[in-house]
Amino acid sequence: MNENPKNIPALFGSMVFSHEEMRRRLPVDVYQAWQQCLVNSTPLSQAIATEIAAAMKDWAIEKGATHFTHWFQPMTGFTAEKHDSFIVPDGKGKILMELSGKELSRGEADASSFPSGGLRATFEARGYTAWDPTSCAFIKDNTLCIPTIFCSYSGDTLDKKTPLLRSMKLLDHQSIRILRLFGNTEAQHVVAQVGAEQEYFLIDKSAYHRREDLQFCGRTLFGAKPPKGQELDDHYYGAIKPRVAAFMHELNEELWKVGVLAKTEHNEAAPAQHEIAPIYCDANTACDQNQLTMELLKRVADRHDLVCLLHEKPFTGINGSGKHDNWSLATDTGENLLKPGQTPSQNAQFLLFLAAVIKGVDEYQEMLRCCVCYPGNDHRLGGHEAPPAIISIFLGDELTAILSSIIEGTAYVDVSKKKLQIGVDTLPEIPQDTTDRNRTSPLAFTGNKFEFRMVGSSQSIASPNVVFNTIVADELSRFADVLEKADNFHETLEQLLRETFKAHQRIIFNGNGYDAAWVEEAQRRGLSNLHDTVDCMPAYISPKNIDLFTRHGILTAEEMYARYEIHLENYCKVTAIEANTMVDMVMRHILPAVLHYADDLSSTIYHQKKVTVNQNRAATALLDQVTTLTNQLYDLCEQLKRALDAAPEAAGGLDAALYFRDQVFALQNRMAQLVGELESRTAATYWPYPTYADILFSV
Ligand code: ADP
Ligand code: MG
Repeated sequence: MNENPKNIPALFGSMVFSHEEMRRRLPVDVYQAWQQCLVNSTPLSQAIATEIAAAMKDWAIEKGATHFTHWFQPMTGFTAEKHDSFIVPDGKGKILMELSGKELSRGEADASSFPSGGLRATFEARGYTAWDPTSCAFIKDNTLCIPTIFCSYSGDTLDKKTPLLRSMKLLDHQSIRILRLFGNTEAQHVVAQVGAEQEYFLIDKSAYHRREDLQFCGRTLFGAKPPKGQELDDHYYGAIKPRVAAFMHELNEELWKVGVLAKTEHNEAAPAQHEIAPIYCDANTACDQNQLTMELLKRVADRHDLVCLLHEKPFTGINGSGKHDNWSLATDTGENLLKPGQTPSQNAQFLLFLAAVIKGVDEYQEMLRCCVCYPGNDHRLGGHEAPPAIISIFLGDELTAILSSIIEGTAYVDVSKKKLQIGVDTLPEIPQDTTDRNRTSPLAFTGNKFEFRMVGSSQSIASPNVVFNTIVADELSRFADVLEKADNFHETLEQLLRETFKAHQRIIFNGNGYDAAWVEEAQRRGLSNLHDTVDCMPAYISPKNIDLFTRHGILTAEEMYARYEIHLENYCKVTAIEANTMVDMVMRHILPAVLHYADDLSSTIYHQKKVTVNQNRAATALLDQVTTLTNQLYDLCEQLKRALDAAPEAAGGLDAALYFRDQVFALQNRMAQLVGELESRTAATYWPYPTYADILFSV
């Protein structure tokens, strides 16, 4: 692996059937027809698909592929694949290697085992996958992977990619309307661009295999605080250990081969925690590539006898993992629409896009909160290291002052002491990267993009981007409606900006998001504070949100209800699995271990009594503590078992989720605390599981 310096430019994208590869291999007319389909978002004809399929198959076989698969993203949040080999009998006892146009563009998949929220009636279990020609095919494990969308036979979307593509198209259309108003006739398309920073933990495989909770739940369900955690901040940006470096080296190569622009890697705040960030690209590709990155993180870790944990909160009391979704808008002529410009007109345009984000986030804060809620992230949001559960925007002092001056119609001090005239004056310099960037904000403007930090480390970035794209597009469409009709464009624009900033300034918060005072302040401002998945979900199907998505053709009301059901059912199932794992670990391992320890303590006391009149105070006190905790744990465990026995069906909607949160999760949480206390009082040789210290410092 390390013998020779690698030719990285040659390695990069070597396993991707890229646009360049297509241009080289396809007849000019076929390539152009395909390009036209991309630009106009029109379907591919069968004849063109057949030619592309043949070229793709030849390329794949040259690269050693034997199979192909439609690669799609069902509502589980993972990617799914079903492999078929290229072989076709030639009728003379031999085989040919084929990929037909139909196999490329459309596949059947039994949809019955993927979550559908009731959209797929059981008598019609078929679903189909259809090629997304805007995302390049690639080879992974000798298999040609063809990125596809996934829907039911009746046409309902069953995946995460379809709404993402729709929302990008919508945003493109509405942004272009705005650009035309500013006299831009050149740009034909506007693309949402995304760079997803990915956090993860890396632990030794042997420790992982000794904990059922890590294996079944992806997180530890209990653990006493280790003597050393992240207090010294010695891990963050620290030197990377050789074993981790070897892992990262191989990971980078694997990512580069499949065309992921892996760029930055460093140690994160917690021991054993790391981060990888790619260079940003269009939101659809970024989403596919983040799915691939998560898969490769796990796979490469395995080859190094490591396990990569993508769970949001693998260890209680230790920083959890998130994903920073960096989001911006760019024209096909290379202009970033979220970057303050050089000219008054560019600045007016920038302020209008900024206003769309501010208004959208304020109006649809619950929806934005909903798209990052699920059990794993519930442990993180609102905790001490992660952003709070309250949505707000960090703009920085300069930009906030500019907005205030627009609202008040007063002078912005740095602009030569005069009132800022939109479209006439330029904006003062807005520093792109102030070093004390607010890390506590859930959504920060970082000079030329927004960084959404509430996304959980294991989740697909599709939904957060669907919501972001849709709410911004919705506001842009409203702005365009007003401005297209305006007699005096500049006056109307200035008024629109002033009113928008004024009406929505409550969502802007530059202070410390972890501060308890912010919770009260946010409440005074009327901002929503949805604590967990169960609290969030009703907002998912509120009339306002259903109206937003249906009005723009992103999802139908039925599809939204289906997603709502899937979320709730998932919540119940995850909670049940965790509770059952907890019961199993406590009953079969922890209680026997501590009883054994208590037994040995009693015999120590008994034997010592025989030889000395001095009471063994240490043993007596320990025995007393351990026995008390053990009894409490046993009682709680019995209570949890009863709660599980009496639990409603996971498909029972909001009531079931409420039950699982209040009757099951609550008990399990109390048990976790008790187990932690017992662990710290039990002799190490008796304790049946690796401790946090063992796991976190295992690499
Ligand atoms: P940080 O200080 O948070 O690491 P960086 O500026 O290094 O911030 O960028 C983090 C991520 O944001 C990277 O994935 C990067 O490619 C992405 N990014 C940078 N500029 C943009 C942009 N204009 N639009 C979307 N993502 C961007
Ligand atoms: Mg970041």
